[in-house]
Amino acid sequence: MSKKGKLIVVSGPSGVGKSSLIAKAMEKRNDFCFSVSVTTREARPGEKDGEDYFFISREQFARMVEAGELLEHASYVGNDYGTPRAYVEQKREDGFNVVLDIEVQGAGQVHEMMPEAVMIFVVPPSLEELEQRLTLRGTETPEKIRGRLQRAKEEYQQAVFYQYIIVNDDLAVAADEFSAIVTASHCLYEDRKNYLTESQERYES
Ligand code: ADP
Ligand code: 5GP
Repeated sequence: MSKKGKLIVVSGPSGVGKSSLIAKAMEKRNDFCFSVSVTTREARPGEKDGEDYFFISREQFARMVEAGELLEHASYVGNDYGTPRAYVEQKREDGFNVVLDIEVQGAGQVHEMMPEAVMIFVVPPSLEELEQRLTLRGTETPEKIRGRLQRAKEEYQQAVFYQYIIVNDDLAVAADEFSAIVTASHCLYEDRKNYLTESQERYES
C-alpha cells in the first residue's frame, strides 16, 4: 500500500450498531484500521483494555489533552472520550483507512481540521428500535439508556455536516454500504486527477 489512507469518521446514536457494522466491514477488508479511543468510562463486561478502548483515569485523560496527544476529544453522558493522534497519523501514512467511532462534537472538530475526512452518520430504522437494541445489549441501566436516547435526539439536530447516512436495518447491507463509501472515497477526482496529466505526459514523451 503506497497511498495515504483516508480518515473515516463514523458517528450515530449509542446502540445503533456502529461497532457491529465496522467489525463486519473489517472482516472482508485488510485496508482498515480501527482507532482505539481513550475513555474515562468503566469497561463493560467483555470489553478489553487496548482493544475496545484504553480505559484511563480522569487525571490521565487531562494529561493527554494538555500534552496535545488527542486529535479530538469530547464528553458524552458523564464521561470523557478522545482519539490518540499518533496512531491515526502513523497508520494513514502506512496506507490504511483509519476508522474513528466518535460522537458528533468530536466529529465536528475533525471536520473543521480535516475537511477531506469521510463523514458517515449511522441511524437506526426508528428510535423505538434503538431503544430496543440498547435494552437488549444489556450493558446500561435504564437511567443511562434514557440519557443516551436523549443525547441521540440532540445529535440528530447537530449532525448537519455529515456527507453520508447509513440506515442500519440489515447489518450486512449496512456494512456493504460502509465499505462502498470508503471505496468511492478513493475514486474522488481530487485524488485521481494525476492520472489525467501523468498519462498524457508519459504518452507524449
Ligand atoms: P454502538 O457501537 O453503535 O453503540 P453496537 O454495535 O454495540 O452499537 O450494537 C448495539 C446492539 O445492537 C448490539 O447488541 C448489536 O448486536 C445490535 N445490533 C447491531 N446492528 C444491528 C442490526 N442491524 N439489527 C439488530 N441488532 C443490531
Ligand atoms: P460508548 O460508551 O457507547 O462506547 O460510546 C459513547 C459514545 O462515545 C459513542 O457515540 C462513541 O461514538 C463515542 N466515542 C467513542 N470514542 C470516542 C472518541 O475518541 N472521541 C469522541 N469524541 N467520541 C467517542
